[in-house]
Amino acid sequence: MMTRSPDTDRQERQPRAAMATATIVAMSVTIGIFIFELTSSLYDLQAEMPRFGVSVTLELSATQRGIIGLDHALDMIRHTGPRPATLDQLRRASDILFVRLKGFDGDHTINRIGNFPKLRTEADGIIDRIDRVFEEGTFDDMEGFDRLAADVDRLMVRFDSLYHRFANHTDLEVHEHQIKLSRMHQLVIWVIVLLLGVAAMAGFLISHRERVIERQRRAERLLAREQMRLEEAVESLNDGFVLFDKDDRLAICNQRYRDLYPRSAHLMKPGITFRDLIRLGIEAGEYSDAVDDPEGFLEMRMEAHGHADGRVVEQKLADGRTIRISERRTADGGIVGIRSDISEIRQREEALAVSEKRYRFLASYDTLTGLGNRAFFSDTVECMLETLPPDDGRTIVLLLDIDGFKEINDAFGHKTGDETLKIIANRLLSTMPDGGLAARVGADQFAVAVSSFGEVDALRRVADAVMKVFEDDVVIGDQRLVVSVTMGIAACPDHAEHADELLSRADLALYRAKQVSRGSWMIYDPEIGLQRALRRDLEVSIRRALHENEFDLALQPKLSLGDGEVCGVEALLRWFDPYRQQYVNPGEFIPVAESSNLILEIDRHVIREGCTRAMAFRDRYGCDLAIAVNLSGAHFRRAQLVGLVEDALAASGLPSHLLEIELTEGVLVHDRRLSESIIQRLHDIGVRIALDDFGTGYSSLAYLRDLPLDRLKIDRSFVMKIENSPRDQSIVRTFVNLGHELGMKVIAEGVETIRQMRYLHDIGCDDVQGYYIARPLIGEDFDNWMKNRSWLPMLEEMNAARQSPS
Ligand code: C2E
Ligand code: CA
Ligand code: CA
Repeated sequence: MMTRSPDTDRQERQPRAAMATATIVAMSVTIGIFIFELTSSLYDLQAEMPRFGVSVTLELSATQRGIIGLDHALDMIRHTGPRPATLDQLRRASDILFVRLKGFDGDHTINRIGNFPKLRTEADGIIDRIDRVFEEGTFDDMEGFDRLAADVDRLMVRFDSLYHRFANHTDLEVHEHQIKLSRMHQLVIWVIVLLLGVAAMAGFLISHRERVIERQRRAERLLAREQMRLEEAVESLNDGFVLFDKDDRLAICNQRYRDLYPRSAHLMKPGITFRDLIRLGIEAGEYSDAVDDPEGFLEMRMEAHGHADGRVVEQKLADGRTIRISERRTADGGIVGIRSDISEIRQREEALAVSEKRYRFLASYDTLTGLGNRAFFSDTVECMLETLPPDDGRTIVLLLDIDGFKEINDAFGHKTGDETLKIIANRLLSTMPDGGLAARVGADQFAVAVSSFGEVDALRRVADAVMKVFEDDVVIGDQRLVVSVTMGIAACPDHAEHADELLSRADLALYRAKQVSRGSWMIYDPEIGLQRALRRDLEVSIRRALHENEFDLALQPKLSLGDGEVCGVEALLRWFDPYRQQYVNPGEFIPVAESSNLILEIDRHVIREGCTRAMAFRDRYGCDLAIAVNLSGAHFRRAQLVGLVEDALAASGLPSHLLEIELTEGVLVHDRRLSESIIQRLHDIGVRIALDDFGTGYSSLAYLRDLPLDRLKIDRSFVMKIENSPRDQSIVRTFVNLGHELGMKVIAEGVETIRQMRYLHDIGCDDVQGYYIARPLIGEDFDNWMKNRSWLPMLEEMNAARQSPS
């Protein structure tokens, strides 16, 4: 489209303006000067008037005198006879005239009347003529002489009239007249000034308007040039450029922008709204993210577009490319956007990330289980600690040590060992709550980290959950392994601030837990808040459990290998916590009960209940079954125990030999003499004494010799291994022989397989107890087991196996 050149306009406009201005100014000035001149001359004349009047008067007196003389001379000439007079007469007459006229002093007078130009011309003419008359001596021409005289007369008359006009005015009148004129003059000056001002103003306004228009034109030109440059620049960009106006309609975009969106390029016409552009683009199948939820995608794009605060958004296109979008609002409310194809960058980054991941995996992961290693665990826990809210956040680290993993390796081979680790790793992973972390931190050690908020009880929940992982046997091929763990626990901020410290605290706790019992868990440092709180919690629960009668006894049968009959039961405490809605492991609550002496009450309950139950067996099963109860070491530091047992026996009517008390070597640690005497007195009243967990403690022969023990109970950790470990086989055999040597019956606990039972039978072990025969049974289960004589098939199986030529 052709446009009128702004330059032409300007060229035309400028002189027009200048001319108009000049004309106005010139006219104003001309009119001004004219009026000024007019009034000035009037004014000057009038201002001179009084003086002029006087001077005219004076001068006229002289003139009159001259005129009188002239008249006389003329008369003389007239009267000198018939014309022409003689030369002498004329010469005389002229002398006289001349002398007279000298007094006329015409020049002086004429100067005075200089402001009366007509009068002056008249006077000048008269003087000229007089001069000419005298010089040319034409006095002989009487007509000329008469004319001269007449002119002089007329001149005099003019002078007279002037004189009279002004002489009639008083000075005051002249003065008033003068003031009036002066005012008029001032007025005229103001009018001139005003006119000049108006002219100047008009000139200024005109030129200003011209300037404004010119500036506007220049701006337009500049804008046009800028626009051109902008378009050039925009086109030369490597990135897609797009500008939407304040109504969100497309204003401009470059070719690169259209190229980036090939499926919607045809839509990119000025005026299309952003919403339509995206909506139609979705319909054209431009965006891969829009496939599932086009409406959602559209709204999401609209929202991001609405922000337009420079934040970067990435967009996946249907052809697999990734576009980076950045938009900003312009000053006029529009939106300017840049689109870059970052597909290549993304691909490179992804490739890099994959190799980095691989590298990091190798550096931080355990290749066997796929879990993080110790370094990874420690780094990750450190991050967890950093993001922990300061008030009620807590990160709990549990260090798990697989009990007897070395034995698993030795007994079943490394392959089985590895498989076991993998299975445990998977089980741990499956129990991790959100944000939980499981890692393999040592050959047979795993670590778990969990962040919890607010409640201290989370620790127990986590510990329970982790312990549950090991409840089920690990099955590898046709092998079935019982895997248990011992755990040490530490928490931040209760015990340490940093990951490594936490791990080492958990390690210390693990060490202690191992000392106490395998399969248990222990929290670091009993003095620090968390454990105290947990303990207090548990104590409160135990008190409530006692009060609410939540404790129950599970009975685990003992089988006599000699006659194949059930020879007794072990009473094992069971506590179903209605608040946790689960059975609480005795390994958890018994240590707490022991530390708070609640155990005394618990065991009193167990002794009483045990006696009562055993007493009932007679009627129910028609035989005498001994009941064994476990007593805490705490009782052996108190003399009351004997009285308590006596009371229970008396109350139930149970013969004392049907009550067996299981104690561990640990009971002798504190006050050996007192404990020995208590044991002795129990023995004296006929109660049977069994040494539990034999082989795990000091196993001092001195105890065995000095204490009145009836029974040795070989710890299940030995029984567990007799199938595969010749060393453990010989240990167990030695224990059996030792017991018999010292006149004791020997029972093996933790018998879980027929082969174990057979071996124990073969080496002469008296009794067996364990899951193979029966799990600890509650209520009806025990009743059914007894009534069904459920142990018989096992015995038959054992005997059959023994007789078969294997
Ligand atoms: P313990 O006296 O050595 O009891 C045997 C534990 O081994 C029981 O665990 C029993 O359930 C478990 N057990 C029995 N047979 C097998 C088997 O074949 N395989 C395996 N893996 N385990 C078997 P429980 O009931 O959890 O008791 C743990 C410990 O708690 C007991 O160890 C005992 O020291 C203590 N305890 C249990 N009841 C009482 C009680 O009434 N008073 C006191 N003071 N301590 C008790
Ligand atoms: Ca026991
Ligand atoms: Ca035991």
